[in-house]
Amino acid sequence: MLKMVLYQYLKKRTSPAQWSEEAKLNEAMRWLGRGYQPARRTWYDFRDRVGDVIERLHEQLINRAIDEDLLDPGVGVQDGTFFAACASRHRMINQETLHKRREILAGVINGSPSDDQEIPKWVPPTVSGRLELAERIEAAAEILTARIEQNAGKRSDKRKDPAKIVVSLSDPEAPLGRDKFKVYRPLYTVQYMIEPTSNLIISYCCEAAANDAGTLAPMIDKTQRIVSGKLRCVMADAAYCSILDLQDCQDRNIELLAPVQSNSMTESKKKNRVDRQIDRDEFAWDKNERSYHCPAGHRLEHKGREQKQRHGGRSIIEHCYRCSPSHCQGCELAVRCVSNPSRGRTIKRLEGQELLDAQREKMNEESTKVRYQLRGQTVERGFADAKGNRRFERYHGRGLRRARAETGLLVLAQNLLILDRLEREDLNHDKTTT
Ligand code: SF4
Repeated sequence: MLKMVLYQYLKKRTSPAQWSEEAKLNEAMRWLGRGYQPARRTWYDFRDRVGDVIERLHEQLINRAIDEDLLDPGVGVQDGTFFAACASRHRMINQETLHKRREILAGVINGSPSDDQEIPKWVPPTVSGRLELAERIEAAAEILTARIEQNAGKRSDKRKDPAKIVVSLSDPEAPLGRDKFKVYRPLYTVQYMIEPTSNLIISYCCEAAANDAGTLAPMIDKTQRIVSGKLRCVMADAAYCSILDLQDCQDRNIELLAPVQSNSMTESKKKNRVDRQIDRDEFAWDKNERSYHCPAGHRLEHKGREQKQRHGGRSIIEHCYRCSPSHCQGCELAVRCVSNPSRGRTIKRLEGQELLDAQREKMNEESTKVRYQLRGQTVERGFADAKGNRRFERYHGRGLRRARAETGLLVLAQNLLILDRLEREDLNHDKTTT
């Protein structure tokens, strides 16, 4: 059945209902399954079961490529993308609506509404459908409460109105975020670590997250487990180059090639602005005094520190330095430097900023730029193949477990195609040389 499913993935069909149909009508499917024609329900069950073994099959495939010398596990290129969850973006509800629906559904299940009372259209017609919906509502209520609590822990200027925090009833596990087309919808984030010369996907993951933050270290660990610790260098974009990411790479003895903070487009936009403020980079950091000197030569005083929350419950310390208002008020650079000279210019510095500065310098070296070019030529091809050639833009099953199984099937299908090409090229090369 797995052979048939992988064939269907290559043919852009991800629905078990389509597989069932194809198993009866498609000659190739009949040949692959040796005439086996499972019932439609069996295909759905298979899709749900296969997730447990797909990781092991993926590891076997990668190790086979390493043994055949088709893959260099020393370098990996990481990037992420979003795939839409199997849930409508028009049917997301807040806590108040959720509670109302829970009460109505409980009434319908217990048979309390009278005959003349109309049952809402969103209530399924069958008993099993109603019970399933009741389970989903309970799961959604738990997830929504966690989201509201997380929102309450945010800074007041970043906090949302709790009434605007919503959950999808079709797939409560899917977080809400903007996809590549800036559409706000339930989605899952998928990460690929691709080997740049063969284009094989060495490792992957599918997470219930709406951004790439905090995925670098887990992906490195997963890749190291698959390639037995042979990974030495990871290339990624600026989203994977925070201080915590750099520290994680240092702890794991991995070289990270990724630009700091902004991409080249934002940098050039910044430089072209005529009214731009004197940049923080123009303030000199004194390592011995552990303080800044402003372009007018004055020393900034340390004014305090603040703990900043980061992804996964981690935090980072931010220090604040301020130039004395007495200097700023009489300074001829004040117009370009500080909006309110009577308060003095402030500069913020994160603990571990040295790592970011060293990374910025490294990324400006010519040799690094040449090596980094490999990233652009590699990682987008994996996602382009998934979305363009395999037409994989939305999950078919609901829930993180199914989304992971579907991602595993997609990666296995993509890798099998690449491995087949590499093995044929290798064979042809051997024939030519003999
Ligand atoms: S405005 Fe203040 S911080 Fe800026 S250069 Fe002048 S003295 Fe220094």
